[in-house]
Amino acid sequence: MKSYLRVRSLALIIVLLCAALCFPAVAAPKKLKVVTTLTDLASLAQEVGGDKIDVEPLAKGYQDPHFVEPKPSFLLKLRNTDLLILVGLDLEIGWLPPLITQSGNGKIQPAGQGYLDASQFAQILEIPQGKVTRAEGDVHPLGNPHYWLDPNNGRRIARGIANKLGELDPPDAAYFQQRYQDFEKRLLEAEKRWDAEMAAYRGRKIVTYHRSWPNFAEHFGLDVIGYVEPRPGIPPTPSHTIELVNLMKRENVKIVLVEPYFDLKTPNSIASMTGGKVVQMMPSVGGKPEITDYFKLFDYDINLLKQALDQVK
Ligand SMILES: [Zn+2]
Repeated sequence: MKSYLRVRSLALIIVLLCAALCFPAVAAPKKLKVVTTLTDLASLAQEVGGDKIDVEPLAKGYQDPHFVEPKPSFLLKLRNTDLLILVGLDLEIGWLPPLITQSGNGKIQPAGQGYLDASQFAQILEIPQGKVTRAEGDVHPLGNPHYWLDPNNGRRIARGIANKLGELDPPDAAYFQQRYQDFEKRLLEAEKRWDAEMAAYRGRKIVTYHRSWPNFAEHFGLDVIGYVEPRPGIPPTPSHTIELVNLMKRENVKIVLVEPYFDLKTPNSIASMTGGKVVQMMPSVGGKPEITDYFKLFDYDINLLKQALDQVK
C-alpha cells in the first residue's frame, strides 16, 4: 500500500514537471520585442502594440537625437529585439549604424524584416535641392528628420507600425489594426482641440534654434523666419547672430524656441537684444517627466507656446 502511494505521487510529480516544462507559454504569452531610437516612436508603437509588445526606446527624450552617446545597454536591447524602428533621414547616422552591426541580430539589419525606417510613412519637408552632404556640417542632408512633430505624421507612422507588427505577428494583426483605429480616433479628437487652441496664433512669426519645428509650424500655421544655427548642426556664429537680431527687430519677432539640449547663452543674448523671450519647447516624449506620451507632448508644447505668444503680444 505504502509503495503504491509512493509510485502514485512520483507519477504526479512527473506529470506536473512535464506540464511546467512543456507549456510555459500558457502562463506568459510571448510578446514581440520592439526597440525604437526615440521615445516618440516608442509612444506610437505602444499605442498600436498594446500588451502584445514590449517596447523600449534607446535615447532619452531630453537628449539631442543627432548625437546620442551609445551605452552598453543599447547593444543588449538590440541583440534581443524582433523589431527596430528608427527615424531615418540620417538623423541617427552618428551613433546607430555601428550598434546595429555589432548587435549581430540579423532581423534588424537594414535589409531585415525587423528594420523599420519610419520616414517612409511621413510627409518630409525641406528636402534639399542639389547635393548636400554632412561633410559641410549639415545634419539634414536628406530632408528634415523632425517630422513626428506634426500629428498627421504621427497618424501615418502609427499606421505603418501597426502594419509591420501584423506582418511579424500575423495572429495578432487584427488586434494591431483595432488599436490603430482607436488611436486614430483619439488623435483626431485631440487635434481638433489643439487646432482650436492655436487658431488665434496663425501667422505669428517665431525664430527657432535648430530646424526642429517645420512640421509643427506648418501644421499650426506658424511662420519660422530664422534660426540661431547658421545651418542645421552648426553652432551659432557672431555674424549670423547679428543678422538674426536685425531680422527679428525688422519683423518684430519676439520668440526664440530652444530645444532642451542647446546652450542658452546665445538665445538669451538674442532675447535681450530684441526684447524677446526664450521658450524651451520639448521636441520629444519624456523631455519633461509629465510628457509621458505622444498626446502629452503636444499638450505641453502648445500650452507653453500660447503663454509665451500672449506675453509678447
Ligand atoms: Zn535636426
